[in-house]
Amino acid sequence: MTCPRIEIDLTKIEENARALVTQLSGRGIDVTGVTKATLGSPEVAKAMIAGGVVRLGDSRLENLEALRDAGIEAPLTLLRSPTPDQADRTVACASLSQVSERDVVEALSAAAGRRGVVHGLVLMVELGDLREGVLPENALDLARHISLTPHVALAGLGTNLACRAGVVPSADNMGELSALVNRLEDELGQHLPLVSGGNSANLDWAIAAPAGRVNDLRLGESILLGCDPLTRIPLNGLHTDAFTLVVSVIESLAKPTVPRGATGEAAFGAPTQAGERGTIIQTIASIGRQDVDPDGLAPPQGVSVLAASSDHLVLETQHRLPPGTEIRFGLDYSALLRVMTSPFVMTMYTTTKRHSTSPPPSLPPFLPPSIPPVEKPTPATP
Ligand SMILES: *Cc1c(COP(=O)(O)O)cnc(C)c1O
Repeated sequence: MTCPRIEIDLTKIEENARALVTQLSGRGIDVTGVTKATLGSPEVAKAMIAGGVVRLGDSRLENLEALRDAGIEAPLTLLRSPTPDQADRTVACASLSQVSERDVVEALSAAAGRRGVVHGLVLMVELGDLREGVLPENALDLARHISLTPHVALAGLGTNLACRAGVVPSADNMGELSALVNRLEDELGQHLPLVSGGNSANLDWAIAAPAGRVNDLRLGESILLGCDPLTRIPLNGLHTDAFTLVVSVIESLAKPTVPRGATGEAAFGAPTQAGERGTIIQTIASIGRQDVDPDGLAPPQGVSVLAASSDHLVLETQHRLPPGTEIRFGLDYSALLRVMTSPFVMTMYTTTKRHSTSPPPSLPPFLPPSIPPVEKPTPATP
């Protein structure tokens, strides 16, 4: 089969989505399924919808357009503010946009007016992570402006933490968001139906503390990879192996561990110094930094990653492997993002077939990441 390829198990993604949706619905929180790490894959989007997400979100307009072109009818949110010149395309495919600038509001208003629609806006508020959003003290101004602008409706507030500076969602900053929503509602005399508290990094907070006014989380990594982005520890009961990268061996030869000759910078900066370990089996797979973040690969037992250049992944294996041998890797978020974006990696969708007599195992509620994960036995396949 074609290599390199990424195998995506849609059943596992659906089950992850369902486990998170179920758990969060008990807290009054809906899930927006975030597709951007899969380049807006319609198949992944459908698996998320089957798992119960109420809408889909992506930071890139092109990905949202791909979802619409594939016939997906779920409401779509543009998670990164559009540029003013993208306003027409935005209102054509998304029902909500996250915004923080007046000029963008104006552009979306004009575009929505031309189309004869009302476009929903989520006003983003900066609560400490220093990425997008207005400062809390400026939220009322922009909220009032949006309320007075035609063809757009203020759907509510949103915030995003843990992405730029790693600020942890907490009872404090989430409480601040809820208080701000209440204050704006009083000032504007208007109900704000949507309060989007953050991303997968909010899960620990969401199960530990009352949600307050927060009634939406935008979840990508936790649905796709089954882990908490703050700790990268698996969420109990979730599949962490929905994605598998399969690469092909092109060379496997006994070689020394230490380079020969004077060394300077390698293709990607200073090479890591190898300790002298005599002769090893060095195996090369035909994939490289153009396609994957080698630091984000989880190799199978008996295989380790030694180095990577643009097009060569250098591994150590226990035996010589004939060219064409396939090696399977797990991926972290960074590796997944790059793999999905590379035109050189083929995408293959699979589903985990289950016995019709035995329903899918009921997933236990996930635990806070401080508690060690429990390995779930792989369900039997027919
Ligand atoms: C990517 C993104 C998300 C999803 O983040 P995950 O950590 O993958 O859950 C949510 N909100 C915004 C604004 C994003 O850009």
